[in-house]
Amino acid sequence: MEEQAVCVGCGVAIQTDDPKRLGYAPPSSLNKEMVICKRCFRLKHYNEIQDVSLTDDDFLRILNSIGQTKGLVIKIVDIFDFDGSWLPGLHRFVGNNNVILVGNKVDLLPKSVKPTKVINWMKQMSKELGLMPEDVFLISADKGIGVKELAQAIESYREGEDVYVVGCTNVGKSTFINRIIKEFSGEEDVITTSQFPGTTLDLIDIPLDNGASLFDTPGIINRHQMAHYVDKKDLKFISPKKEIKPKIFQLNEGQTLFFGGLARFDFIQGNRNSFTCYVSNDLYIHRTKLENANHVYKEHLGVMLQPPGEALKGSFPELVAHEFMIKDNKTDIVFSGLGWVTINEPGVKVVAHVPKGVGVMVRKSLI
Ligand code: GDP
Repeated sequence: MEEQAVCVGCGVAIQTDDPKRLGYAPPSSLNKEMVICKRCFRLKHYNEIQDVSLTDDDFLRILNSIGQTKGLVIKIVDIFDFDGSWLPGLHRFVGNNNVILVGNKVDLLPKSVKPTKVINWMKQMSKELGLMPEDVFLISADKGIGVKELAQAIESYREGEDVYVVGCTNVGKSTFINRIIKEFSGEEDVITTSQFPGTTLDLIDIPLDNGASLFDTPGIINRHQMAHYVDKKDLKFISPKKEIKPKIFQLNEGQTLFFGGLARFDFIQGNRNSFTCYVSNDLYIHRTKLENANHVYKEHLGVMLQPPGEALKGSFPELVAHEFMIKDNKTDIVFSGLGWVTINEPGVKVVAHVPKGVGVMVRKSLI
């Protein structure tokens, strides 16, 4: 086995001994200039996913080693799942290194939303969360929006040093790096991307022109995300691909909204109010009376209320209730990885139900 060979897709060390283990490639492929592991090969050509994960310890180890070297840290968050993809505590690990905060997937936000407003919101949130980025960018790695400007900023902020790209799985880190490579070298798709969380493995070293490198770090899996509780064919219901069309519901107290079978929102108390839902356009939102909601869920989960589909409904975690008293204008209730509901007027009591293990939080409205 050639020890130094690494997969051009995910960066894992290539081995030719055991097809079932990570990093396997057939011996014949070692003669090629670019070796790709079996897992990435299947992902690329057949869109098949193999689940792998990085432990929290491994991730902290990587962050620690970044803190001990000099370089520019690019922290990518998913603007659609800002809180869930935040990587709390990063500022403690990066040492004195500068951080650029990048919000990806801006293409999902409604066109009416002003980027400067979102950038200001991100700056404010960062401050509250203890991170002081040098600069904040809003991009779409997928559509190429804002990538050139970011690449230029990276070039000037790094002052000849290495660049480390960090982010939790599914924020679009690989897609971003593929774009950046294209910006710098004109090559396409040298890193594997996938819709399933947890598919980028080891540090990938991308040479920059002055001998410094851009490192792609593996993403940590965000266990509070809804994506872990659905089948991969159902991911489209929770990871939107297109601009979100907000759906507005005028509700009276005692009404409930179901987001497929994945989450539920109860308006418990307060004056008639408008609620704006920012979720994947493909996800069916069902309105019902609060008093019937338990029954409706029991009867219709897996059929009218899906995902989860029929086959998975038996193993789907039970929904857990989280109660919130809303005191401010324009507040978002965020369902980690699914989207959010903006409550337009204060003075209401609501309950958000999510599968056990999925995060729910309240924040000042993003939009
Ligand atoms: P990683 O796990 O952070 O490396 O994420 P990937 O690059 O594999 O992307 C995760 C998912 O997000 C994939 O389904 C991508 O197609 C999608 N994605 C990545 N960037 C964007 C973007 O700018 N906009 C949208 N809408 N989706 C994106």
